[in-house]
Amino acid sequence: MIARVTLEIALRREFDYLVPEELADRVTVGSRVKVPFGPRQVFGCVTAVGTDSPRANLRPILKVIGKQSLVTPKVLALARWMADYYCCSVETAIKSVLPEAIRREEDGWRERLVVTARAGPGPLPKLTRRQADVWRVIEEWREISLQELLRLTGTTAETVRRLEDRGLVTLAPQVSERDPYAQEAILPTQALTLNPEQQRALDTIRQGLDRGPGGAGTAAGSAARVFLLHGVTGSGKTEVYLQALAHALESGRGAIVLVPEISLTPQTVERFKARFCAGPVRTLVAVLHSHLSGGERHDEWHKIRQGRARIVIGARSAVFAPVEPLGLIVVDEEHEHSYKQEEAPRYNARDVAVWRGQREGAVVVLGSATPSLESYHNAQRGKYELLELPTRVDDQRLPVVRVVDLCRAGSGGREHGVPIFSNQLREAMALRLERREQIILFLNRRGYSTSLQCPKCGYVAGCPNCSVALTFHRSRQRLLCHICGHETAAPAACPEPKCRNPAIRYAGVGTQRVEDALRRLFPKATIQRMDSDTLRRKEDYRRILGDFRTGKIDLLVGTQMIAKGLHFPNVTLVGIVYADLSLHVPDFRAGERTFQLLTQVAGRAGRGDVEGEVVVQSFTPYHPAIQYARRHDFVGFYQQELEMRAELQYPPLSRVALLVLRGRNEDKVKFAAEHVRKELDRRLGGWPGLVLAGPAPAPLFRAQSFYRYHLMVRTRQMTKLSRALAELEAALRLPEDLRLTIDIDPMNLWGS
Ligand code: ADP
Ligand code: ZN
Repeated sequence: MIARVTLEIALRREFDYLVPEELADRVTVGSRVKVPFGPRQVFGCVTAVGTDSPRANLRPILKVIGKQSLVTPKVLALARWMADYYCCSVETAIKSVLPEAIRREEDGWRERLVVTARAGPGPLPKLTRRQADVWRVIEEWREISLQELLRLTGTTAETVRRLEDRGLVTLAPQVSERDPYAQEAILPTQALTLNPEQQRALDTIRQGLDRGPGGAGTAAGSAARVFLLHGVTGSGKTEVYLQALAHALESGRGAIVLVPEISLTPQTVERFKARFCAGPVRTLVAVLHSHLSGGERHDEWHKIRQGRARIVIGARSAVFAPVEPLGLIVVDEEHEHSYKQEEAPRYNARDVAVWRGQREGAVVVLGSATPSLESYHNAQRGKYELLELPTRVDDQRLPVVRVVDLCRAGSGGREHGVPIFSNQLREAMALRLERREQIILFLNRRGYSTSLQCPKCGYVAGCPNCSVALTFHRSRQRLLCHICGHETAAPAACPEPKCRNPAIRYAGVGTQRVEDALRRLFPKATIQRMDSDTLRRKEDYRRILGDFRTGKIDLLVGTQMIAKGLHFPNVTLVGIVYADLSLHVPDFRAGERTFQLLTQVAGRAGRGDVEGEVVVQSFTPYHPAIQYARRHDFVGFYQQELEMRAELQYPPLSRVALLVLRGRNEDKVKFAAEHVRKELDRRLGGWPGLVLAGPAPAPLFRAQSFYRYHLMVRTRQMTKLSRALAELEAALRLPEDLRLTIDIDPMNLWGS
């Protein structure tokens, strides 16, 4: 028997190995193996097994890792597709479908020693007093972990060994599962009665499930479709997911729920666990995300692989979970950029979900209050089925949104010349504090102020490694680069030798500065800031949200961390300090992003009995992204944005590939980029409808002391382009110190 193996050392080739007799029944497609490679031993994954090989003198597989093959053939097919589409090696793709904790050899189940009572009725052998005390505890518990026993009795392992010698107890290792949510007390919940719109959406999804393989429908085996669930914030999308999941379970299939990392809060996880911890369709809900320890991840993953957990909730990489058979994939907040992985393989979990769903006959539900232009466009042209939830549950009204022009905010709103709060926002805040209602203030920029600027000579403190200004962090009195982490003391005067102006000033405003200004404005209010600087530990996030929920905090200031998915009935005012921040970045999705952000943040207001209000401050109040968000008009925004995209052949009317070259020598990078352009012209010259742009300096021109040039290719035939780019990459002979990255369907044009 011969096995074909891809090696983890990314060689973009597969190698044949002999399967030794004694391993024959353990080697299948998907097995992880250790093989000799030159003088070394390396890990790999079996991609095929057969009886002959074109090569002679094959070396044998040394070892099979794990009892069960780790990659199912279906997930392997997914990895192959990813490698083709996203221009990366199969090995890189396989690496990302298996969590690190699963791939490593040494991580396994945690075992602990358990003491079990054995003695039956009858006289006890003679024991010392100490031994007798310990025995009584064991007898009462019947079975107890050694560690726990030692803690309870204050004895030593030696004493327990004595009891074992006497035949009274056995000591044996037992697998104990790590449960990251062990401390939660989860109360079961039941399905809510849906409103007519929710019911219609659910029925349609259920029909889709019934049509799929394993479904109750007659046309079993036909491919299920994709649904786009467009529902305003608070319209009850999650309840629709929960009931659709129940239906998948009833028909014997499992499901994957993807949520953005940032909204994977204990609150969200609990909602899913609570629904499936009891009742006829009870199952374990496994959770996969990056904050779990390696061991926890190992256990969660294997619960899925063994079929004990049939629902998985997780961030991006949970899309590869080995759920079998798979009935449903839910992608919540499908427009979120965090679904895109910013390193190879540069996949978008939403798009992988759609592909996987189609391959495995599973229903895919993409949900969002602000769908991406790509998905909404797919729904418009009939590729996806559109389901709409246009109203909030219980007919709560969407909040009133007021847009304030900061250029006219008047001097009342200025702090040292920088406007932070307009009079309108100030008054609105004062009113809520008086009424003991809660407030959220949102600003997408952490730190105290954006930059240190000299008003006399124009000097701006910049990072020596990156082409960005340093951000002042007041609590530490340091300047910090938000790209590379470079840190330096804040100077007391302008460092320009000819200037030395002592009146150097801080321009721009970050969350810290907003917090300071608020404390001065409302000294009696309880104010809490929440951004990546205040969240040092895992529990901080939870504690702050808990305090906010129970009313211990009046006013929460934060970055996008507070924008999503959170639900606080007593919040009646949301203030957006600068709506323009995300608007003026060199990215064709800047408008879309701003619209999404404003809508999401606004959705935090008025989720209780009192109507909510949103105050949006902006220097460009008439920008369409702001105006359409103000009117809660997604379709209006979509239509005007689509026109703009069509004109320039941007997605969703085409697809983009971004090529970035980087290196420490600027001239070399530029020269190589020009060479790539020539090659692209030569290879893709005759393609209809192709747009080639660049090379140009990347928007983030210098980062971590690397210079970056980029080129953009836009086409409607991405599969074909991916293949051409892979060939180009293989043929290019780039100098050692230059790197080319290819990003298919990039989300971040700043170049990662
Ligand atoms: P979305 O995911 O669209 O933002 P949620 O699913 O979080 O909305 O629903 C918002 C709130 O409404 C939740 O507290 C949820 O329990 C409640 N809810 C959802 N559907 C119903 C329903 N049919 N009847 C009563 N309450 C509901
Ligand atoms: Zn830097």
